Amino acid sequence: MSKTVLLTGATGYIGSWICRYLLESGYTVRASVRNKSNSARYAHLETMAQGLPGTLEFWEADLLKPGSYDAAAQGSDYVFHVASPFLLKYKDAQKELIDPALQGTRNVLEAATRSGTVQRVVLTSSVASIYGDNRDMQAQGLGTFNETHWNTTSSLTHQQYSYSKTLAERAAWEIATNQQQWSLVTINPSFVFGPPIGDASDSGSMDFLKQFLSGKYFGAAPLIRFGFVDVREVAMAHLRAAELPHASGRYILSNIVLSTLEIGKLLGQNGGNRMVMPFLKAPKKLIAPVAPLFGVSKAFVLHNADYPLAFDNSRSIRELGIQYRDFKETLREMVARVKA
Ligand code: NDP
Repeated sequence: MSKTVLLTGATGYIGSWICRYLLESGYTVRASVRNKSNSARYAHLETMAQGLPGTLEFWEADLLKPGSYDAAAQGSDYVFHVASPFLLKYKDAQKELIDPALQGTRNVLEAATRSGTVQRVVLTSSVASIYGDNRDMQAQGLGTFNETHWNTTSSLTHQQYSYSKTLAERAAWEIATNQQQWSLVTINPSFVFGPPIGDASDSGSMDFLKQFLSGKYFGAAPLIRFGFVDVREVAMAHLRAAELPHASGRYILSNIVLSTLEIGKLLGQNGGNRMVMPFLKAPKKLIAPVAPLFGVSKAFVLHNADYPLAFDNSRSIRELGIQYRDFKETLREMVARVKA
């Protein structure tokens, strides 16, 4: 008999790819959606499911409504908790980021415990719960971040998205240790890139790419490094994290570290307009005071520009068997899909 998975965040950028791989593998997927009558939000999943061996069902639930995942968790073998807002722009961090991340994680994981059937929970965390700012690596005397590290520098007033992911992952580990029914595995991706399946995602990944393609950083940008990873590798890691009995703990998913100038150059060579990309490093002391004009804080520029960044992805390769594709392919396919 096929296994059943409750998948939160199925409509989103990463969730849609997870949904696809689950359906390709013959699972029954209980995709949770906020509003079943808003079918435009999940039409791409229905189209995708046609012809795939698995079964797709839609269950209504909201991260902020206690108990709303209970029915979908009952009878599920695995829970993939992917849903959480990843927004680059927000007004009220508590309401828009932290409440859905933290209360949502509690609601979904408590539903898994009450289900009586769930054996494993896979949580989409982030490298944002491993570190807060690029300067943390040097400040902690590290040459690279690995799964033993935790973000200790984000707060309600600085790097709020990273704070929301840290609180949520910490809560997940605490809930996991207080029960014996299911085991927890977390996937901690860096910036996720690659072609989206649907068009409706509000993910910061789309926002970030569109800012570069639109010429927002034309000419000069502060030199800030980010880790990047393909959405398909992230999605596959979720399946392996559920299926492999030996999978445990946290897994960093990150392929390559690139600076804002390097990503601009690669975008220009892989489908983006090279005339609108940044080619000069803006000195951080000069750019920091005007950072709010670009939608980021002065502290963000000061704590991140010019610092090195590195991730150890060896656990994901060794234990989950992830093979990272050439990142140029990721960019080419993403740009082609987003421009279309
Ligand atoms: P998307 O914005 O594309 O997806 C977010 C999903 O969460 C959507 O399905 C959305 O549903 C759902 N959601 C948001 N708020 C609620 C709510 N109140 N109740 C129920 N569902 C809700 O983002 P991504 O796919 O990029 O992100 C998915 C996960 O991956 C998040 O946990 C994010 O933190 C994590 N992540 C993302 C990275 C990236 O670079 N993209 C990097 C590392 C981690 P709806 O369709 O109804 O809006």
